[in-house]
Amino acid sequence: MVRYPLEYNQILNRTKYNTFGPVRKNKDGSVRFHKGWDFVAPMWTPVFPVATGKIVGVTRFDKEGSKYGITVTLKFKEQGSTYWAFYAHLASVAVNVGDEITSTGTILGYVGDSGNSKGIKASCVHLHFEFRNRELGGNGTTDRIDPVQFYGDPPYDGLYYIDDE
Ligand SMILES: [Zn+2]
Repeated sequence: MVRYPLEYNQILNRTKYNTFGPVRKNKDGSVRFHKGWDFVAPMWTPVFPVATGKIVGVTRFDKEGSKYGITVTLKFKEQGSTYWAFYAHLASVAVNVGDEITSTGTILGYVGDSGNSKGIKASCVHLHFEFRNRELGGNGTTDRIDPVQFYGDPPYDGLYYIDDE
């Protein structure tokens, strides 16, 4: 069983366009794929491992022009298969590459607004979260897994939307 990347009661709202797949548009009108789910949450909300595993990627600094800003990647096993959980737009990271995560209560980092997290109508502070079946995903939704497969349908749609990655 994988858990949510945040304490559920700390999620303020789910975005209208948080769904996975060809749900967004570029400025020129072409389709853009959303590769995961967005969880709107207050700045500095802790993010947790969805399962026990190992930290395989950390981006500690928010470089100019960065898409995902400060990120953490967790490798984990679920029912005999290996997956990667990717957390983006963080405010800061609390773990290091190579850390073995033995408890799903371990704080991996904190929700923030690093990278391209800027929303149009709402708070831009959110967690961009992906499940992958390879460490580094390809274009579009290649190597991404719809979180619905782990969590079922999103509990509800919110009033906010975010036009970002
Ligand atoms: Zn997103």
